[in-house]
Amino acid sequence: MRRVIDSHVHMEGLGDADAVLGRARMSGVDAVVAVGGDAESSAYALGLAEKHQGYVYPGVGVHPSKVLKMECGEAIGFVREHANRAALIGEVGLDYAYPFARAEEVRERMRMLYSGLLEVAAEMGLPVAVHSRSAYRDSLDILRRYDVAGAVFHWYDGPIKTLKLILDSGFYVSATPAAEYSKGHRAVLAEAPMERILVETDSPVHLRRLGRRSEPADVWLTVHALAGIKGMEPGEVAGIATRNTETLFRVGG
Ligand SMILES: [Zn+2]
Repeated sequence: MRRVIDSHVHMEGLGDADAVLGRARMSGVDAVVAVGGDAESSAYALGLAEKHQGYVYPGVGVHPSKVLKMECGEAIGFVREHANRAALIGEVGLDYAYPFARAEEVRERMRMLYSGLLEVAAEMGLPVAVHSRSAYRDSLDILRRYDVAGAVFHWYDGPIKTLKLILDSGFYVSATPAAEYSKGHRAVLAEAPMERILVETDSPVHLRRLGRRSEPADVWLTVHALAGIKGMEPGEVAGIATRNTETLFRVGG
């Protein structure tokens, strides 16, 4: 039985992968979900998964921050071509908070890209890791048009009203180390039932309190913060979140 899984990591941002994964194993992290945010990082995640079979589970995707860097058809084609080697489609989604995303044409382009990638996920029977910052409702409404094999709203800190619709649709949300300090994220984690929460680091995202970048071994920070919110034992929280991740991403036991 796995102790904990880091359900969302950008391995390409972490340098020496073997050392990073070694430290994760040592700390009791029993699997890592490595998402892709463009062609290079997706290929990197797929390569790592081959090298670390049964430990690294790869996602292929194009992050909304990359929407102007790739032609839509080309980006969707890349993901379609590699989806058969992936455990999930992700990280994909919408983000209206970027300064470059103020223009409606850019937002429309993000929605087109996201829709095309969801179509691939539905075709391939794959689950999806969704980025939805400042575009929570649109991210959900578009997702619901596709028959995907489950989804997680990663690092969700949006309105509780939309959270309820996410949960009603059968989707998950994930907790990050921001569960220590982010009011919005904490409110979401208090509201969502433990049966619908995954834990992650979103490494290499900067850890505010520790003043350094995160890596998968830091998923225990997320577990402890979430356990505090839920009034539960960290081991129990880790166990439930891990089962949820195994269910959603079909991570073999
Ligand atoms: Zn991410």
